[in-house]
Amino acid sequence: MRNPVPVQKQLNSVLVKPAGPDCNMGCAYCFYLEKDRLFKRKQHRMNPTVLRTMTEQVLDEGAGRVSFGWQGGEPTLMGLDFFRKAFAFQQQYAGPGQIIDNTFQTNGLLIDKEWAVFLRDANILTGLSLDGPDHIHNHYRTLKNGKGTWEQVVRARDTLLEADTDVNALIVVNDYSVRFAEDIYNFHKNGGLTYMQFIPCVETDAADPDRAAPFSVSAEAYGRFLCTLFDLWQSDFLDDKPTTFIRFFDAVFFSYVDMLPPECTLLPECGLYVVVEHNGDVFSCDFFVDQEHFLGNVMEQNLADMLNGATQYQFGRAKADLPEPCPDCPWLIHCRGGCPKDRTRDPRDKGQNHFCRSFQIFFEHADQRLKEMAEKWKREQIKQNTLLQIQQSGIQMNRNDPCPCGSGQKFKNCCGQ
Ligand code: SF4
Ligand code: SF4
Repeated sequence: MRNPVPVQKQLNSVLVKPAGPDCNMGCAYCFYLEKDRLFKRKQHRMNPTVLRTMTEQVLDEGAGRVSFGWQGGEPTLMGLDFFRKAFAFQQQYAGPGQIIDNTFQTNGLLIDKEWAVFLRDANILTGLSLDGPDHIHNHYRTLKNGKGTWEQVVRARDTLLEADTDVNALIVVNDYSVRFAEDIYNFHKNGGLTYMQFIPCVETDAADPDRAAPFSVSAEAYGRFLCTLFDLWQSDFLDDKPTTFIRFFDAVFFSYVDMLPPECTLLPECGLYVVVEHNGDVFSCDFFVDQEHFLGNVMEQNLADMLNGATQYQFGRAKADLPEPCPDCPWLIHCRGGCPKDRTRDPRDKGQNHFCRSFQIFFEHADQRLKEMAEKWKREQIKQNTLLQIQQSGIQMNRNDPCPCGSGQKFKNCCGQ
């Protein structure tokens, strides 16, 4: 059998680490702080030349819609002037009609009114890392001296919300917090963060590389956590519409309506975006910033070439090389084997996805309801398309006519209802 011919990918998404792994916090479960081993200098800051070159390369590619995700480490360490410059470069290099999205992830410590107003005015979707009520957040999200950060981050949340910034909650689910699904959900809902992204935590134990770190969440516990969350999310529906937004549920729903999810972990392959570090080094993915996945440097090579190079292609294909139980699994169409990172962090998983059991528990619980929601959604799409076509064609429908959607029912009992 011949090898598949790689499809040329358009560069439309970069994750940027302007301050590298530098951070003003010292969360126990952070996987990125240790990345400073990859770089010679002690302090990591993107200079204007790298910023300009990267921006120009991304926008020159000419994708109609382009996304810059600013992350760390902690991106606010760069100061506001860096981002003013970044957006000025974006305006300078944007092509006619090109849409540019920016997202920003922060731990909140440096967020003040000036930052909040800036993020709002620049129309930036901001993810704030806040794990839940104080005993949950402070369990692992501390300063380097061990002091909790909850009060400061809640203040940042309120500042962002008062300024009317578009903000969502980023919540790491760990061995401790996994017991408190309801408390976390209600905390964010009542605190004004109705968009929530939950990130289950699994890392290799630095002290014993044969097992997962103690803060990692178990598959069974995370599966139950997702089920509780799903029920809470459902119970807050109004007129069949969600009033809170959980990224995993939204993304999974795409596969129920036969569309590709906007979430790389649920896609058949990886490799659709790249990470640009502060010095212009480019890597395959946030979770694979290492020598093996080094693609080049923006000062020497073009980002689009790196995205389409052999290393990134192989990285992307590796996701489709599924662990043993996946090809025969009924949930494969929705789960796609999950994130390959989760097949490697706990050696006891032996190459299987650490969260496989979580997915199974969740889909067994939520599948029927998701199917019903999908049916309803599809039906509504058909109705809207049919009514639009009738309107555009100018045809006068009689209520007893057969419905033009092809259902075989009378118009009055179908799209004309
Ligand atoms: S390794 Fe995981 S996070 Fe990275 S691109 Fe693949 S699915 Fe996404
Ligand atoms: S639920 Fe488990 S076995 Fe099924 S596709 Fe997902 S990771 Fe694979």
